[in-house]
Amino acid sequence: MNRKLFCTAIIICFLCCPVFLVAQNKTIDSLRNILTTYTSQPDFERDTNYLNTLNELGFKYAYLAPDTTIVLSQKVLTLCKQINYFAGEAEALKNIGLVFNVKSEYNKSLSYYSAALKIALAHGYKTGAGKIYHNIGIVYSNLGKYPEALDNYFEALKIREELGEKPGIASSTNGIGAIYFVQGKYKEADTFYLKALKIAEEINFLSGKEAGYSNIGELNFRQGNYTEAKHYLLKALDVTKETGNKEAKAFVFTLLASIYNKEGKYNDAIVTFQQAKEVAIEVGTREYLSRSQIGLAEVYLALKKTDSALVYAQEGIKTAEGISYTELLRDGNEILSRIYEAKGLGMQAYYHYKLFKQFADSINNLQTEQRAANLAAEYEYSKKEIQLKADQAKKDLEFQRKSTQQWWIIFSALAALFTALVVASLIYRSRQKEKHSNQLLHQQNEEIEKQKNTLQLTLKDLKATQSQLIQSEKMASLGELTAGIAHEIQNPLNFVNNFSEVNAELIAEMKEEIENGNYGEVKIIATDIAVNEQKINHHGKRADAIVKGMLQHSRSSIGVKEPSDINALADEYLRLAYHGLRAKDNSFNAKLETDFDEGIGNINIIPQDIGRVLLNLYNNAFYAVKPPNSQKGEHYQPSVKVSTKKIGDKVEIRVSDNGSGIPQKIVDKIFQPFFTTKPTGQGTGLGLSLSYDIVKAHGGEITVETTEGEGTTFIIQLPTQDAL
Ligand code: ADP
Repeated sequence: MNRKLFCTAIIICFLCCPVFLVAQNKTIDSLRNILTTYTSQPDFERDTNYLNTLNELGFKYAYLAPDTTIVLSQKVLTLCKQINYFAGEAEALKNIGLVFNVKSEYNKSLSYYSAALKIALAHGYKTGAGKIYHNIGIVYSNLGKYPEALDNYFEALKIREELGEKPGIASSTNGIGAIYFVQGKYKEADTFYLKALKIAEEINFLSGKEAGYSNIGELNFRQGNYTEAKHYLLKALDVTKETGNKEAKAFVFTLLASIYNKEGKYNDAIVTFQQAKEVAIEVGTREYLSRSQIGLAEVYLALKKTDSALVYAQEGIKTAEGISYTELLRDGNEILSRIYEAKGLGMQAYYHYKLFKQFADSINNLQTEQRAANLAAEYEYSKKEIQLKADQAKKDLEFQRKSTQQWWIIFSALAALFTALVVASLIYRSRQKEKHSNQLLHQQNEEIEKQKNTLQLTLKDLKATQSQLIQSEKMASLGELTAGIAHEIQNPLNFVNNFSEVNAELIAEMKEEIENGNYGEVKIIATDIAVNEQKINHHGKRADAIVKGMLQHSRSSIGVKEPSDINALADEYLRLAYHGLRAKDNSFNAKLETDFDEGIGNINIIPQDIGRVLLNLYNNAFYAVKPPNSQKGEHYQPSVKVSTKKIGDKVEIRVSDNGSGIPQKIVDKIFQPFFTTKPTGQGTGLGLSLSYDIVKAHGGEITVETTEGEGTTFIIQLPTQDAL
């Protein structure tokens, strides 16, 4: 389950139940005492106050001893049925629904909630219906079914607004915000979170304030507004002191610590992660324990204390394994891979990178499938709505026509009796009516047209998501690539093994010759050993380069899309590539040309990924124009050019060079992983394959035009509108 949902579910669950609000000052013991006082009265089991108190107790036990709640609620159910006490029945069913939600048995939970809802609606128990709709919203959000969750939260909100139940209004509004948040609709999330918080503040509703501050804090954190995020999180921390909600405290500490880490305040980050860890251990939430251990690993790696980082990362992964938490397993393996990389342990780094990739792929696939399912649900929903509207419009028109006809019959009868003037006036009236009905029809048509457009947008969105799904399936085939990599590494390893075996034999031979005093032979053998040693070194470096290249692949999936200035990015990386090259070889000079279309504006991309693509293209271009790779006589002026242009709803980026060009027989192979014509140490053959994947993941295309001996142009086309 997504962590955010988990957290939201917990906060909102408590928020949503006015029963809880009434009962929150009553402990389980005091409720039991109250119940004992009832038992001394005659016929107490038919007393609705007694039944209400039993339900309060049932609610209290839902989190602490779920099975007790079930037994208790079944009993209340029987008693309520005997006296036709419907509100009590609905509450008891709702408590059982809650238990199954706590146990993550969502289908069972939904069936109890819907039974409860049916009774509440049939008998006008509105407060109950509001609570139940809200709780159903929570279950759907736990299931990742966001349209259904929103539907139910909005129903709850409607009822609660009608009744003026402010805590309930705050909770459902907050729930709606949380759904928008997990869907990445940050603007809507912000609006609803702020609305909920305002109400909670107005009535000093503590749990509402706590949820509001921490949710808005997290929202700002996700958007990189660290100052705002800290402001809200510190407020949330203050409220947790009053509510004593330690889980919320652990959540807030973890976020605050991550902010300190991002700000480079490593000491503060360590102290705060430690606090998060302590609270998490105290309340037994392994999610936050793992989160803070992985966070500490991150900080220690930034401080280059790789030993401590290693210990924390391993602990974090172990904790996450205990709760099978995929997201944390992904993050833990990612950081562990980087720690091993920093320690120079390539094979371990590669092993954990592979695990990271597997977890990341499984999350991506799941999320994309879920998104596709949600979009499909939205699509079906709007289709139904349109159909209903169209049917209604047809019926209205039919009705109008029929009534007009009837009027006509009456009018003609009257016409026989009354004067022509009366007839004329009636005709006039009937025309007016028809005009009106036509107008109505026109309006309805417009409405249908609007709905159709929305539907088309949803469909487009759905298609884009489907193509993303296909893309992530392709990513899954990266697993197959592993076989290729194993093969690639096996080859240099074979050399290393063979040459070192030969060297062992040569050394034995050399010892013998030394004992025999044949120093001439010894010298020859020593030379052989040295040659072999060089080969071992050469092939070792090849394996190293392959692993490094793969690690570069591993970083490609981190990062978020943001509106970016593609011209500035292209310019920046061009200079970066050129100066990087000149730092290695200051005798190298090339002409840099740029031609940017200033009308492009910002486009939605992951800037560091597109930056990596550009860097690869530039490096290849500089390599191609660099003598001796390009042999074009003494007047040759190496040149690399980048240009951008807006074409319709696409942006085209061209990277050209006047270098060696690519021979026709290998053009088809250059995008394949590991294809390189460069000598060992200078190329891994991953640059273009990586670039191809990144551009595809952006919904774009990369192509090449080249003439051998004259030069090469790589063309990238990216959609200007976010296709995902
Ligand atoms: P690498 O650069 O590590 O070899 P790439 O995937 O970046 O791997 O490129 C693969 C091959 O494509 C290169 O080895 C080279 O043969 C060819 N290539 C790429 N860009 C150019 C270019 N601008 N000019 C000539 N050849 C190129």
